[in-house]
Amino acid sequence: MIKISYPIDPIELQKFKQDYIDIFFKYVQYRDAVEDTYKIKSKLNNLGIPSIDIKILLVEDFSTLCEKEEKIDYLKLSSAYFTKYPEKDLKVEDYCTKYKSKVLKALNYEGRQAQISNFFMQNNDKLQLGTCYTCNIDFINMFDDIGDYQNSVEFCNEADAIELQKIEKIDEVQASKIIKIRNISLLTSISQLSSVLTAEEIDFLNNMTLKQQYKHFTLDHFLDKGSNPILSLSLFNFVPMCYPCNSLFKRTLPIVVDKKKDCYLSPTHKDYMFDANVSFSYINHNPTSKIDNVEDFQLKLAYKDDAYKIHSRIFKLDGRYKAHKEIVLDLHNNSIDYSETQIKEFAKMSKNNTIENRSNIKKVIFGKEIFDGEVQKIPLTKLKRDIAKQIGIDGVKET
Ligand SMILES: [Zn+2]
Repeated sequence: MIKISYPIDPIELQKFKQDYIDIFFKYVQYRDAVEDTYKIKSKLNNLGIPSIDIKILLVEDFSTLCEKEEKIDYLKLSSAYFTKYPEKDLKVEDYCTKYKSKVLKALNYEGRQAQISNFFMQNNDKLQLGTCYTCNIDFINMFDDIGDYQNSVEFCNEADAIELQKIEKIDEVQASKIIKIRNISLLTSISQLSSVLTAEEIDFLNNMTLKQQYKHFTLDHFLDKGSNPILSLSLFNFVPMCYPCNSLFKRTLPIVVDKKKDCYLSPTHKDYMFDANVSFSYINHNPTSKIDNVEDFQLKLAYKDDAYKIHSRIFKLDGRYKAHKEIVLDLHNNSIDYSETQIKEFAKMSKNNTIENRSNIKKVIFGKEIFDGEVQKIPLTKLKRDIAKQIGIDGVKET
């Protein structure tokens, strides 16, 4: 439903990709596994058979990945592949089998889920994670498990022993030392703990560095790793999704049947344009009067490109959005109660009839997210914007 925002600045994008490569290559076992593939790679290249550069494969853009996957489908070792090389000796098949096993070992997803999830969490700001890219209904944010404190001093003065231990390097002993000191006199600076804590422990407290963060999302392989094993670690094959979308609805159902033709249906693809091709609309038989009940109108998804229907079918968008018809009802009724003329009147009454003030009044009435901000930040924004456009509310932000 929503295209994933990757860094636009080329230098920032390059760093983003390099950081992703590094989460694997910082481990010597991983470097060795990749090194193993290189030994056979040169033999394949000498025989004129395409091979894979694993580093590139990890960060290749999605459309190239889809094309590449086809070219190197000999990894699936279909017997038909070898008929393309009738002039070569039997060693070809032998090299390919060995190469496949080494490549798949280097690209094995099992045991690496946590590292990849952490990468997405650490790049929260760059990716602007907010709501699920697939449904725009549920949040896919991260959260920590401590209360809301203004700063580290307030945290050290008020947190109980269990909460204190959520900070890196702080265990039961350090927590009781902190409590003992603050019981004598409340802290005004973390450095007052320097007699009982190490510099490192104080540093973690100062920065409120937590041992663990939690996430509200799962990572989905857009092209499933069972049928496309060489894409199982590719950055641009991952879509962060809410739990219902990934676990209840998608599971391993394929959205893309023909990789060459349909790969633009991935929110990671540069040409993904669900928003421009699919819109919510409601059918109301008397648009000038207020609606009493959600049963009195229908909410539909309209398609300019029918290929996107697969999203709605798999993620049950029609049924899930039907549960949010109340929002449409409120927008419709508010647009009748508060016309542009009435909004001008409000602005005049407040003795501030500027465009800015009129726009602020509209934000209060209809919801700020209709006019401002990224569509993925607040749940159901796509629905609200589409309906607001249909009603004819001025100033709706293009998503
Ligand atoms: Zn979702």
